[in-house]
Amino acid sequence: MSSPIVRFAPSPTGKLHVGNVRTALINWLFAKGQGGTFILRIDDTDTERSTQAYEDGLKADLTWLGLVWDDTFNQSKRFGMYDAAADKLRDMGLLYACYETADELDRKRKIALSRGRPPVYDRAALNLTDEDKAKYEAEGRKPHWRFKLSGERVEWNDLVRGPQSIDTASVSDPVLIREDGSYLYTLPSVVDDIDAKITHVVRGEDHVTNSGAQIEIFKALGGTAPDMAHTPLLVDAEGGAFSKRLGSLSMDTLEARGIFPMAILSHLAKLGTSDNIEARDSLDVLASEFAFSKIGRAPAKFDERDLLALNATLVHAMPFEAVKAQLEAISPEAANERFWLAVRENCQTVNDAKDFADIAYGQIEPIVDAEDQDFIKQASDLLPEGEINSETWKNWTGALKEASGRKGRGLFMPLRKALTGQEHGPDMGVILPLIGREAVVRRLSKA
Ligand code: GLU
Repeated sequence: MSSPIVRFAPSPTGKLHVGNVRTALINWLFAKGQGGTFILRIDDTDTERSTQAYEDGLKADLTWLGLVWDDTFNQSKRFGMYDAAADKLRDMGLLYACYETADELDRKRKIALSRGRPPVYDRAALNLTDEDKAKYEAEGRKPHWRFKLSGERVEWNDLVRGPQSIDTASVSDPVLIREDGSYLYTLPSVVDDIDAKITHVVRGEDHVTNSGAQIEIFKALGGTAPDMAHTPLLVDAEGGAFSKRLGSLSMDTLEARGIFPMAILSHLAKLGTSDNIEARDSLDVLASEFAFSKIGRAPAKFDERDLLALNATLVHAMPFEAVKAQLEAISPEAANERFWLAVRENCQTVNDAKDFADIAYGQIEPIVDAEDQDFIKQASDLLPEGEINSETWKNWTGALKEASGRKGRGLFMPLRKALTGQEHGPDMGVILPLIGREAVVRRLSKA
């Protein structure tokens, strides 16, 4: 097989979220695993809703993730090609003018449904005479244009879904061009796929029905349809529709929360497949493990807890140099290796280190309740001599337990409150050496 050429085709009408990143990733892994080509096509034919800012944003996100593209182009620069393809289809009698208004179409659909028939467009416009059309035009109506489906079955062997068969007699002839002359997605996509010699169209299963029509358009325009792979959609952890949550799952939000690209990529690559969900440290490894045959038919459940767990495994092994910049953003004191190596095991994201940094290096207000004052004085006296290390907390509280007779919460909570100013927080054994002897003594002396 020659090397695959694939495309990821987002519309720049919003931010990338985990759902469309997954489509990009599957395309990338499939192509790059075989030395193929990954093209980024910007589907900006909807010039009203597309913006340069969204386009820049999605390119920045793909770059952050490492999903680099070999080539990119914008559909908005290619209207001449789409016009030529539309003319060709018109000449072949496969693109016909329709004059129904949205209301009229709606009425037709309702009548069909009330008669127990599928709400398929009745092709009334195919019978319009030149006179009828002239009359409509004189009324100020503009045509929209439909592609004439063959009425036969379109079949393909989907790389994820297996053998597919769409009866084009049971779907409406798709509108390719709107009244205002603008293109819907269907035709430009086929024109571009032919032009870019796309070998595999890999996208979400919401496009399966489109594929029936698009395969016919490929053939009409003299191309052969690429192979197709339609992946199940993402759902949330409860199996529900996911769209409402997408705002919190855009790449910039995840980045701001301290989630690493490889956590996102590992999760999305393994989700809904027969492989275990485990973190990998490079896209190349994910590519070497990728196969369409591993992708199941059930919706893929995206669970943020799994994403965080994967991120945590990456964080626990992350060397200081790799997170230095993120730690600097937390505080100058946090950007030191000793601090990072002490806290990383307790962090799910790099940002979690902030709690440790605040307590170790920030201004805290010790809390000592009246009934704990003597206990805290006792603690101060029993603090082991010398540099505080990872054993100090255990030894210190062991000695205090014996001396005071306190145990459990009564033993630990007053110390936590005096040393951190909070009732909750990180592991004291980890934080104590970072606070350091001088500050520990100072905080205890507030009692
Ligand atoms: N712009 C289309 C979408 O985002 C592309 C679909 C395709 O891959 O063909 O749904």
